[in-house]
Amino acid sequence: MSKFKGIYQNNFQLPEEISRLGEFVYNLWWVWVKESQKLFTEIDPHLWEVVNHNPIKFLRDVDQDRLNEIVKDPRYLNYYYDVIKEFDEYMAGDNTWFEQKCLKKDKNTIAYFSSEFGLHETLPIYAGGLGILSGDHVKAASDLGLPFVAIGFFYTQGYFTQRISEDGWQEASQVELKFEELPVSPIREENGELMTISVEMAGREIKARLWEVRVGRIPLYLLDTDVEGNTQEDRKLTARLYSSDLDLRISQEIVLGMGGVKALRKLGYDPQVWHMNEGHSAFLTIEQIRENMQAGMSYEEAVDKAKANNVFTTHTPVPAGNDEFPKWLIDKYFSKLWPKLGLTRDEFFDLASAGRDWGEVFSMPILAFRMSNRANGVSELHGHVARKMWNHLWPELKEEDVPIGHITNGVHTGTWLARRMKTLFNQYLPSDWMERLDDDAVWQAVSNIPDGELWDVRRHLKRALASYLRDRARNQWVGDGVHPVQVVAAGALMDPYALTIGFARRFATYKRAGLILNDMDRLLNMINQPNKPVQIIFAGKSHPADKPGKMLIQEVYRKVKSSENGGRLIFLEDYDMNLGRYLTQGVDVWLNTPRRPNEASGTSGQKAAMNGVINFSILDGWWREGYNGENGWAIGQDKDYTDHDEQDRDDLSSLYDLLENEIIPLYYNTRALDNMSAGWMKYVKSSIQTLTPKYNIRRMVKDYTEGYYIPVLKE
Ligand SMILES: *Cc1c(COP(=O)(O)O)cnc(C)c1O
Repeated sequence: MSKFKGIYQNNFQLPEEISRLGEFVYNLWWVWVKESQKLFTEIDPHLWEVVNHNPIKFLRDVDQDRLNEIVKDPRYLNYYYDVIKEFDEYMAGDNTWFEQKCLKKDKNTIAYFSSEFGLHETLPIYAGGLGILSGDHVKAASDLGLPFVAIGFFYTQGYFTQRISEDGWQEASQVELKFEELPVSPIREENGELMTISVEMAGREIKARLWEVRVGRIPLYLLDTDVEGNTQEDRKLTARLYSSDLDLRISQEIVLGMGGVKALRKLGYDPQVWHMNEGHSAFLTIEQIRENMQAGMSYEEAVDKAKANNVFTTHTPVPAGNDEFPKWLIDKYFSKLWPKLGLTRDEFFDLASAGRDWGEVFSMPILAFRMSNRANGVSELHGHVARKMWNHLWPELKEEDVPIGHITNGVHTGTWLARRMKTLFNQYLPSDWMERLDDDAVWQAVSNIPDGELWDVRRHLKRALASYLRDRARNQWVGDGVHPVQVVAAGALMDPYALTIGFARRFATYKRAGLILNDMDRLLNMINQPNKPVQIIFAGKSHPADKPGKMLIQEVYRKVKSSENGGRLIFLEDYDMNLGRYLTQGVDVWLNTPRRPNEASGTSGQKAAMNGVINFSILDGWWREGYNGENGWAIGQDKDYTDHDEQDRDDLSSLYDLLENEIIPLYYNTRALDNMSAGWMKYVKSSIQTLTPKYNIRRMVKDYTEGYYIPVLKE
């Protein structure tokens, strides 16, 4: 723990009785303990929606008279005391899983670096799956009581907001985040000045300040270069995620990696484990070597020590997707540094290239692999792909001996499980099920849930999605003056009783969002059956510089807009965690059609499974190991292709055949009594039962802890 604490940006004028709300809103614990959100909705449910579930903004805007009134309600006060008590007990963290492993928390620290963190939609410092995974990882580290600290960026403009024009073109807009409305607190020195660190970069000093985000028991520190003393240009360095300007990008990564190490030192941490989530933070290894040599080690000793302490997780199964820099940029930023490490230019480049005849790039994942004794991919299949792809770094080894393991990703149950579903589980599962999520035995009890009760929750969640969509469509119609057809495309005609398929993810071409639309005649014939209607909801952003991705959105949007589909195809703008929750809870079927083996893991289908939504996916990433023949549907075969056209054709015909012959008939094989299909409920239950215990982040963080963190701590 650091002795430096973030200083709150707000001094709320709260009635004495509920004064601790002022501190409560600065810890994201409320995000995953959903019952606690009643503390706000009981005061003013309308305002809670207006402020987009942001409790800090809520307390800033709430009516003072209403606060004075609610503290006279003993029922509210009792609820408040209960929640605060639960929060205090959680924070005290007695007897956590980590402590039961007989490890002293105060002697160990695990530092976790990631370029994005998806914790809640009000803090938009994430772009997609990588960020959600980091956010969920931190939450689980808190739940399990790990001595953990995380480092990332405070992107002051967040990720972009997406609008789709009438002709389907993605328009990106950016807003300056208001930090006084966010759960971020600046770190100050003892003398009250803002704490900053500085990094030397190509002849200039860049300063960054530190913000603290409290994620349960874990501090997440965010670096931000918008500080006095930096040039105007440098002040904007950390404003946005993933610039395509390489100079800007390498500067960001130097701040994250090297600056991140300095920040931890200044805060008083001495981590034994350094976990790089993806290669963006790999420059931290250079700072480690520099530090070790400054402490008197030889270069070789310095490298060995760094390697022994580092863990690297790779997420990128395609060579082109890897983060790398041209050599001239490395010359620009590091030519003063390598002599200090006693290295020649060539030797420095060797750290991050596959060999001198392999071309002219400095590869961040190669640097990370070379500097970590422990490395992993994020699903079983991705482990194979990564060993094959990086075998050339260990030319003397056979593919299966390449030292890259795998730990399959998972999702944070408290964050992604619908409140209604949780209530149902509370009723039928053993009372400590939240602490035993990863125990198969707990989930056997799903069989005891009466089909009708589970179906009621499923229907409730679909109605909630439909009414949310209609509200959004109405607001667009009223507020943004969109064309009427866009109101239809936004789901104004959504039928809360029709079989509903969801597809939401980043629009990168390998994810093949348009695959299901490839044969429109066949598809329309399937979805327009009057007594068996099917609707498909799409959502997703494309990186602003990804032209093919944006063209794919346009192609999908044009088909969505066409009147032929009767409003049964829907495209939702601005996919984020909020929409992600609505979709993975509210649809019936979760579709994923990546071009195998490009989906390293994927996690949205795991969110869907725990909510009783059935997966219908390519055997790629996590689904290849999650699918068991009875808990969902597998598109295509467990097979590798070299010819993309052939792969697309095979996958498409498998997709249509399953939809037409199995999925639609099963869903509509209902009893007149309650419109429920018993066969469907069998799939729902089997999916919850077999997938939730494995594909949750508690199991994942335990795997990291037992497989990687503890062995490092014990060395
Ligand atoms: C879960 C999630 C993702 C990642 O899902 P994939 O299955 O990897 O595509 C991306 N974006 C948001 C908003 C999410 O909630």
